[in-house]
Formats: sequence, C-alpha cells, structure tokens
Amino acid sequence: MTAVSGGTAVHERLPGLVRREEERFAREHPGSRELAAKARRHLLAGVPMHWMAKWPGGFPVFVAEAHGSRFTDVDGHEYVDLCLGDTGAMSGHAPAATLRAVAEQSARGITTMLPTNDALWVAEELSRRFGVGSWQFALTATDANRFSIRLARHVTGRPKVLVFEGCYHGTVDETFATLSRGRVVARRGNLGPPVPLEETTKVVEWNDLEGLEAALAPRDVAVVLTEPALTNVGIVHPEPGFHEGLRRLTRDAGTWLAIDETHTICCGPGGYVHAYRLEPDVVTIGKPIAGGIPAAAYGFTDDLAEQVAGSIELEDVDVGGVGGTLAANALSLAAMRATLGEVLTDEAFARMIPLAERWTAGVEGAIAEAGLPWQVTRLGCRAEYLFGPDPPRNGTEAHAAADFALERFMHLHALNRGVLLTPFHNMALMSPATTERDVDRHTEVFREAALELVG
Ligand code: PMP
Repeated sequence: MTAVSGGTAVHERLPGLVRREEERFAREHPGSRELAAKARRHLLAGVPMHWMAKWPGGFPVFVAEAHGSRFTDVDGHEYVDLCLGDTGAMSGHAPAATLRAVAEQSARGITTMLPTNDALWVAEELSRRFGVGSWQFALTATDANRFSIRLARHVTGRPKVLVFEGCYHGTVDETFATLSRGRVVARRGNLGPPVPLEETTKVVEWNDLEGLEAALAPRDVAVVLTEPALTNVGIVHPEPGFHEGLRRLTRDAGTWLAIDETHTICCGPGGYVHAYRLEPDVVTIGKPIAGGIPAAAYGFTDDLAEQVAGSIELEDVDVGGVGGTLAANALSLAAMRATLGEVLTDEAFARMIPLAERWTAGVEGAIAEAGLPWQVTRLGCRAEYLFGPDPPRNGTEAHAAADFALERFMHLHALNRGVLLTPFHNMALMSPATTERDVDRHTEVFREAALELVG
C-alpha cells in the first residue's frame, strides 16, 4: 500500500471490492473458466505463456475473435481493447490490408532464407521514417535489441551496456538490471541471470545527465540502449535538454546511442525520433510494424553500417550470434509492407492521437471528480494513469507510485464491464480502428471505479 495511491480509506475498501469483482468475473466467464481448468493439464501454470497467469481474475479470458478495436471471448462478451496486445496490435486487430498481404504471400511461400522484393521497400520506408539508413530484420523487438547490443560490443570492443532504471527492452539479459543503493543488481524476478549484472551493465536514473556522464567517463560502455521516453514503468517523459545531453555525452564518449521505438512509435509514423528530431546511431523496433505478425527491425546510420559490415568475416556471418532462421521471412516482410504502407499511416496517427487526448481528458475529469491524488501522462496515441499526485521524473519515482493491489482492482473492474487495459500497468493505446465511443466507454467505467474507491 502506498499513501499516494489514495490513502487508507481506499485501501480499506479494496479487499471487499476485489472479492466482489472476482466473484462476478468467475460467474460471468464459465467458458473461459472451464478452458483454464482444462489448460492446467498440459500447459505450464495453465497458460501458454507464463505471464498470462498474471491477468487479474484468477484465470485469463480466452479469446474467440478480435477485429479492429474490439475482441470477443468464448463466453460471447465483447470488449473494447485498449491493451492491443501491449502494442503488438496497435494497427487494430486483423487490419484488412495486412490480412490481404498475408493471404497472398502465404500462398506464394512463407520462408526460404532468401530475400524478397518487400525487404527493399520496407527498409526504404523505415529509413524515411526513422532517419537511419541501413536495416536488418528479426522476429521480435527482444532480438532486435539483443543483436544491436552484440554488434555494438563487437565493433566498439567495449564490454558494457548502459540502460536507465525502470527500462524494459524485452528478455535481454543485459537489460534486466536495477540499482540497489547505487549498485547494479539483477532486477526482481530475473530468472537465472547468466552472470552478475554489474559485469555487463551500468544503470543510471532517467533524466540524470550527471550520473550518465560519470558512467560513460571510463569509456567502457559500448551502447546506451533506451526508449526515448520510458513507457514500461508508466510513461516517464524526458526533461527539457535531456536528449541533447544524452546525444552529446554518448558522442563524446564514443558510445553508440540505440533508441528503442517499439512502444514510442505511438508518437507518430516515425516514432519519437522523428517527432522530436533525435539523432540516434541505431533504431530498434518490433511489435506493431507487421500488424501482429512476428517481425522486428533494427537500423544503423550508414557510417555504423559500414563499420559493422566491415568487421565481420563472410565465413562467420551465420555463427556470430546474430541470426534467426525465420528472420526476414517473406511473410513477415509482406505484412510489414502492408502495415506500414496502408495501416499505420500519417492519416491513421492523425486520428489516433486526438483519441488519446480524449481518453486523457476523460480520465483526468473522473480523477478530479473522485478527488483521488492520481494523474495521467500521455505520449502520442498512448496514455496512462498513475497512482500518485505528480508525474514521475525517473524509474525509481515511477516504481514508488505503483500499487499492485489497486491496479488489479482497476483492471478487473474494467474487464468485467467490457474494457481491457494493458496488464502490469494502467496503459491505454489507440489503434486506427478505435472510436470515440470506445474511449468514452472506458471513461464511464473508470469513473465508476474511481467513485467506488472513495465511497
Ligand atoms: N522494447 C520495448 C520498449 C518493449 O516495451 C518491449 C516489450 N514490452 C520489447 C522491446 C520486447 O518486445 P518483444 O517482447 O515483442 O520482443
């Protein structure tokens, strides 16, 4: 319990409210409940991916179909989906252009280990959007980050990676680190880290340029990997001057700057990098760029691309630790081409961002009405409410505002009323298919929960 999230009265009410919502969830989802019970037989922890066990309610909702901004479950309930596969479905579910391209390409072959013409189109489009000119493909953002780190170490000859406190870049060993009384240690829950994290990683607080300068000074950091605004501990914006400082300090130290745009593509077609004119050495991106088909990309400036290519023997390119048999397969590339060309377009963002503004205004209004000490942060077509009166300035402050029990109540309350939020924090994302009605439905449900919490 944290004092900032609403005080003692809220937390006294919480257990009863959670019990009521859990009972309602179990009662109204007999189909999902039955499948969840059967799933325990052959699926570890009863789920196909262990973190699915963390959805509130005791068992996850089993999906029947997902279209546009909504999905239906096996019990016939329809949901407004503001989670959108935690950005994997930011294109909206099953977008027509992507479906068409996937069907056509599937009929012409899915994977051959040879290039198709789509690779050229997608690389040119990513260069136009993100400003770095030379691209490679992977299947997940995790891999795009892993490969970028590996190449940075290889080319610079330096051992360390620097990340910011509260970061998340996928299941990348080097990034599963946190600060504990000034020391770098494995973050809570890190399963079987291969080596102590301080051997591979430096961690600095977001917005702390002094700390960054000191960490880069020994010139042993190959690459700083960061989101341009943190989105995985709530949204934490950079303070004015932070990005200029980050760029200057990394250049001075001979350290690569890799910007992970996997979530921050919510800022616009060219992500945060384009919207705020950043000049990274490397851009990584995954999740939504192929409409939900597994695909990711990482791009280098021309100068770095030459250094990378010139540093690897042709005979060794397949065994250097950067790879993936299915990477750059024809299906992923066809899906990326259709999604970037026809779905996540300039026009789509021009609709999506005002929807997030509407969501923000609605939630802020309900927070004020309930008198809760909470606030909302927004980044393009993504917005999030945080338990705490002030926007956090770094990962530590953001962690301090987290409240697991309260979060679970808010999520389950919304789910029981047909709205899905991103699990593990309180994020809502708009797709090209999201409507004002979808947003207003969430506002209505959120308001009801907020007023119940204060009694
Ligand atoms: N980068 C960022 C910024 C992310 O938020 C995530 C996942 N949440 C990833 C990378 C990893 O994506 P994936 O799990 O699809 O590999």
